[in-house]
Amino acid sequence: MIDFHCHLDLYPDPAGVINDCRRRGLYVLSVTTTPTAWKATSALAGQAPRIRTALGLHPQLVHERSSELPLFDELLPLSNYVGEIGLDGAPKFRPHWHTQIAVFEHILATCSAAGGRILSLHSRRASSAVLDRVRAFPNAGTFVLHWFSGSARDLDRAIKLGCWFSVGPTMLKGESGRALVARIPRERVLTETDGPFAQLDGAALLPWQADLAINNLSVLWSLPRETVDQLLLANLRRLLTNLDSP
Ligand code: MN
Repeated sequence: MIDFHCHLDLYPDPAGVINDCRRRGLYVLSVTTTPTAWKATSALAGQAPRIRTALGLHPQLVHERSSELPLFDELLPLSNYVGEIGLDGAPKFRPHWHTQIAVFEHILATCSAAGGRILSLHSRRASSAVLDRVRAFPNAGTFVLHWFSGSARDLDRAIKLGCWFSVGPTMLKGESGRALVARIPRERVLTETDGPFAQLDGAALLPWQADLAINNLSVLWSLPRETVDQLLLANLRRLLTNLDSP
């Protein structure tokens, strides 16, 4: 099972969650929200062979944390994964739109210069602006749109641009999210939870609850659970084909 976007460092007991992930054999992309969080979050996962820690600068925090960009650049050689990055067009973050764009473009340019990374992208209420940057920085790496909630038209554009998608129980719970997921080619889908930010029935999702997304995909694709599980693992392997270790 795979959780390709969660925030391990933000759970009340990260070490406990990590132990459980290891015990269950989960593949995890642990994303961070600030460059300063990366080292400690990376250390938390220790030598867990199936947990990778992405270097991030969350678009909702860039106005407070853009001074950490030099640290981002310094740490980038240490990580094959970048996230959470992107743009957020919600009213609360709109005042910082220009800073968000400057930071996002800087990160994409830096990733391009570094030979590309696997990038987990936030695009809430900003999908077309995010896709404009995906198109403008094709060498930044492989883009994985996390919890995509844009229009069907933007989704089709993202597919044409070669994007991948990580989809979780919260996205798959609603009709509109399921309709979007149904349009995505199966070979570009991974599961995620976005825990502990994402909640289901009032409780923060735990990484192994990516399980619920597998159930949803099984119904949506009319495939047995085991087949969906195998398909997702094959997707992950294909995504990582061109990566060296860390
Ligand atoms: Mn997130």
